[in-house]
Amino acid sequence: MLQNKIQDVLNEPGCELNQSKSDKDRKKGCTKQLQPGAAAGGCAFDGAKIALQPLTDVAHLVHGPIACEGNSWDNRGAKSSGSRLYRTGFTTDINELDVVYGGEKHLFKSIKEIIDKYDPPAVFVYQTCVPAMIGDDIEAVCKAAAAKFDKPVIPVNSPGFVGSKNLGNKLAGEALLDYVIGTEEPETTTPYDINIIGEYNLAGELWQIKPLLDRLGIRILSCISGDAKYHEVAQSHRAKAAMMVCSKAMINIARKMEERYDIPFFEGSFYGISDSSESLRQIARLLIQKGAPAELMDRTEALIAQEEARAWEQMTAFGNRLNGKRVLLITGGVKSWSVVSALQEVGMVVVGTSVKKSTKEDKDRISELMGGDAHMIDDMTPREMYKMLKEAQADIMLSGARSQFVALKANVPWLDINQERHHAYAGYEGMVELVRQIDRALYNPIWGQLRKPAPWDSRPASAPLFGEDPVVADASEQTTNGQVQPIGLDAQMGQEVTA
Ligand code: SF4
Repeated sequence: MLQNKIQDVLNEPGCELNQSKSDKDRKKGCTKQLQPGAAAGGCAFDGAKIALQPLTDVAHLVHGPIACEGNSWDNRGAKSSGSRLYRTGFTTDINELDVVYGGEKHLFKSIKEIIDKYDPPAVFVYQTCVPAMIGDDIEAVCKAAAAKFDKPVIPVNSPGFVGSKNLGNKLAGEALLDYVIGTEEPETTTPYDINIIGEYNLAGELWQIKPLLDRLGIRILSCISGDAKYHEVAQSHRAKAAMMVCSKAMINIARKMEERYDIPFFEGSFYGISDSSESLRQIARLLIQKGAPAELMDRTEALIAQEEARAWEQMTAFGNRLNGKRVLLITGGVKSWSVVSALQEVGMVVVGTSVKKSTKEDKDRISELMGGDAHMIDDMTPREMYKMLKEAQADIMLSGARSQFVALKANVPWLDINQERHHAYAGYEGMVELVRQIDRALYNPIWGQLRKPAPWDSRPASAPLFGEDPVVADASEQTTNGQVQPIGLDAQMGQEVTA
């Protein structure tokens, strides 16, 4: 059954990357065999947990050894406006006895314990490698527990070994489609109800978009899955239109909801001023197409004009400080073309961008944005990244936290643009924040200090190395063969060197 689900996901007609592959390649999926020690990316379980953990009021129970939950706990900065339950780590922590006798009873008891103690609206149960290999049937356990406790218990069958993080994202989407979406009815519906899919409210980015929609009277019936509540997702099938945000991690949800519930969707971005405006226009267009009054477009245009003017006014405070600055963009989850266009809007020159997770369509858009000399990077070792920073004379690197040390080693300012970032960059407000943060990173006085030659490199050959300080001078005499040797920190601080 899991195999069928995987094949279904890998055949996703909405995913151009999959569709561009041959039948044989498609069956292999998107997984790339890693070398031992190359801890890049995550497993399918990790992907499923990333996709669903922003559902804030449910209990996320990981069925597996403690390390699976330990590695995945709270690993993204998805914010909640209410419940904090999603930040509590639940795991069955299976042991050797479970491996011998099976972990199903253990899982059932854990579900009971969670419901007794926390009474969440639902429990999500994640399958991991070890219980999958010993044959634990989490679907059957969840079904029995749901019947016994009269509570939705949702199996998320995505053991790590089945594939990549991206496959896990999609398997998480399948779990929502199979067990959650369409299981409840909203109290009321309006012609202005939308779903936002593939938005995780990292650093609170959804909250930069929501006020704009509120001002237009557009209701987010459900955001899947940033700051989501279980009942909202269960009722999301009554939305009139949907926006799939950037990454195609959950394209299967958007496409299948269009097929099943006639909810048209478009793929858009809220990074950058023009993309934000275009996304608002597209939402209005789809809602009007589905029966909302045509005046919605006039109100949308008025809001766009007002917000664009306000954002540009705020950004003029930074003058020309970013204009012409060269940036190397190594993005992970954030869609590369979308950030490229946002950076170009403020006059920055993108010297290269990673396209590791981009589709053919994304690459075409990047070529269009960056022109003929678009430098797209499929995959890059830290050494190559360092070389590129130097050769392209980049003024700043935008990347995930994993690559920050390459930039720091190259004495190049760096800004976190990935999931773990602390600043929100969506919408008009987010664009102003992005400009502010790039400016702060670029003009931080530390770079001037770091780039100065070290005192011992710039000292004229004849100058005394340690000035007149007798203690330090004495320490320098302890060197061998009359050669000047680096001395310990203690000596520089005026203390005696004992070596
Ligand atoms: S690969 Fe398997 S064992 Fe490792 S974290 Fe993923 S689910 Fe757990």
